[in-house]
Amino acid sequence: MSSVTEIFGTMVFGDTTMQERLPRETYKALQKTIKDGKRLDINIANVVANSMKDWAIEHGVTHFTHWFQPMTGVTAEKHDSFISPADGGNVIMEFSGKELVQGEPDASSFPSGGLRATFEARGYTTWDPTSYAFIKGKTLCIPTAFCSYGGEALDKKTPLLRSMETMGKQALRVVKLFGNENVTSVKTTVGPEQEYFLIDKDIFYKRPDLMYTGRTLFGSRPPKGQEMDDHYFGTIKTRVAQFMEELNSELWKLGILAKTQHNEAAPSQHELAPIFTTTNIATDHNQLTMELMQRIAKRHNLVCVLHEKPFSCVTGSGKHNNWSVSTNTGKNLLDPGETPYENAQFLLFLCAVLKAVDDYQDMIRVSVASAGNDHRLGANEAPPAVVSVFLGDELTEILDAIEKDSAYDAKEKVQMKVGVHVLPRFPKDTTDRNRTSPVAFTGNKFEFRMLGSSASVSGLNIVINTAVAESLKQFADRLENSENFEEDLHNLIREVIKEHKRIIFNGNGYDDAWMEEAKKRGLLNLRTTPDCLPYYIADKNLKLFADHKVFNPLEVNARYEIKVENYTKTIAIEARTMIDMVNKDILPAVSGFTKQLSDEIISKKTAISGIDCSYEEATLRTLSELLSKAYKVVKELEEKVSKFSADNYATQAMADYCKNDVLPVMEELRDTVDKAEEISDRKCWPYPTYGDLLFGVK
Ligand code: ADP
Ligand code: MG
Repeated sequence: MSSVTEIFGTMVFGDTTMQERLPRETYKALQKTIKDGKRLDINIANVVANSMKDWAIEHGVTHFTHWFQPMTGVTAEKHDSFISPADGGNVIMEFSGKELVQGEPDASSFPSGGLRATFEARGYTTWDPTSYAFIKGKTLCIPTAFCSYGGEALDKKTPLLRSMETMGKQALRVVKLFGNENVTSVKTTVGPEQEYFLIDKDIFYKRPDLMYTGRTLFGSRPPKGQEMDDHYFGTIKTRVAQFMEELNSELWKLGILAKTQHNEAAPSQHELAPIFTTTNIATDHNQLTMELMQRIAKRHNLVCVLHEKPFSCVTGSGKHNNWSVSTNTGKNLLDPGETPYENAQFLLFLCAVLKAVDDYQDMIRVSVASAGNDHRLGANEAPPAVVSVFLGDELTEILDAIEKDSAYDAKEKVQMKVGVHVLPRFPKDTTDRNRTSPVAFTGNKFEFRMLGSSASVSGLNIVINTAVAESLKQFADRLENSENFEEDLHNLIREVIKEHKRIIFNGNGYDDAWMEEAKKRGLLNLRTTPDCLPYYIADKNLKLFADHKVFNPLEVNARYEIKVENYTKTIAIEARTMIDMVNKDILPAVSGFTKQLSDEIISKKTAISGIDCSYEEATLRTLSELLSKAYKVVKELEEKVSKFSADNYATQAMADYCKNDVLPVMEELRDTVDKAEEISDRKCWPYPTYGDLLFGVK
């Protein structure tokens, strides 16, 4: 393999390539468009497109695509070749500025939550020049935003860019209050840590549940799970190491800063963390990372499972969304800094986040809600469904002292005065001890831990960016015309702490006592997706997004509908898969084994009268009972599933029905079948066991 520095970014039409290949004037004009977010002049677009095409063809590329992120949560692409007819029955390779900048995919089959029916059937894609074009296989991919003709966002990139814009604008107002005249733009940054499972491909495809739903719907507990903690950070198996090596190399070629890899808590579970970057690029990169993980795994006869909870007896997978804010001068605004002024600015940004998380805890919860993630949040797994913020004792004490105008350091009796005192540094190890908090301050960034492993990071970041922008807007409105800045700033910070300290919790998030305490504090505990849904379209949330021009109410409603529908359809598919497995494999297998047992009893008793058949008899009795029960429950589930129809999927009533009527029956069916598995002959069981799945990668 060539060295990392040689291959890094070779498949990206990035800044260096542009500088090398574009005429100076074109490069400068493009940079200006990127910086100002203006529309690209068509003449410049033509030059860029041509140069991109030549570069791509040199890399063996034949096609181009507008790569976009519809509301399915995965990416979409439609390939067109560069060929264009020429004289004499020949072809030439062409790519125009118009084709680069705008596309019109016939996208009527993408979910639109009714948006496209309201307006026009067609959607169009527009190049996001802030995210570089790249090569995948033989295709030049152009990252694009996807909108309806009326301008309604039909994708996950458009609102994300809008949320970054409002956040950048409001943050800049606040930064200016502190006299940072050289700062001209502020951007949010994200580093998503991606968890995943790797399962042997041959074993995986013997399980219809994994194939259809991405998670196991049956499976009794294996003798060993993760109780020995011997997998976390353990030695990486050769086959997995080879997968990781190829993955890293492909990611690096795409300019993705894959940095850390290790084994996670559960057997066969792993994690990849990139170095953080600007939010929209981090989002594109995370989508590509998930896609490449799945593709490259297959080459190693593995399947990469991204579901939030593929196996019931071990921990599920999340995607820790590390979030911060940076200025164009390279200052991280969540870094306490060296001077009292920097500290004051840090405290104000910290308060903006606290206020945002408290005011919009419902929307944060909604943004991470899905049928898959319901098995993590609110179940016996980190983090809980109650949104709270971990700050660490030291920082909490400081806020406490500010709020009460009291001494913060017991020994030195320092009175904390914002803008006058220097804060201590908060090293990562003093702030990162807690692993159960949904939102944790980790020294110079916030780690949002609720997001599920299969989700796009877009939804959560749209909420964080917009909610924090709202806090900052209120702060700037109040402080911009202040006569006595320091005094007003101090008072503002005190007020925010007083009003929002209920969101701070430094204890153990699993604890039942915390659930009680959270209730007393008035924090929401939305355990499931159906519980969250009404908050999605609550007036206060519609107003937030409309005020910041991130979503109009129509766009929110569309997304709400898609979320409901994804939830109910997921449960419907899971239930149908269970029915299929039980009727066609499990009942026949168990019935076959009971016949084997009764034949055994008869033949033994015929051979020797009065012989002891206690194993056979007891097992036959228990299995027969479980068989009858499984049959009864599967009939019940069939009856439940018959209520789903194409026109009721997107309703709250059906989401509630899934939660209250369907899921409990699914659980009962699983429980019954798992009990049967525990006492059935291994040879007669129709599927690979949990043991095979979790320990199958040699
Ligand atoms: P952990 O202890 O949570 O596993 P790591 O150091 O492995 O921590 O991962 C932390 C993640 O946070 C990395 O992806 C890193 O790039 C990201 N990160 C660090 N600083 C920032 C920042 N300023 N903004 C956004 N993400 C950041
Ligand atoms: Mg982490």
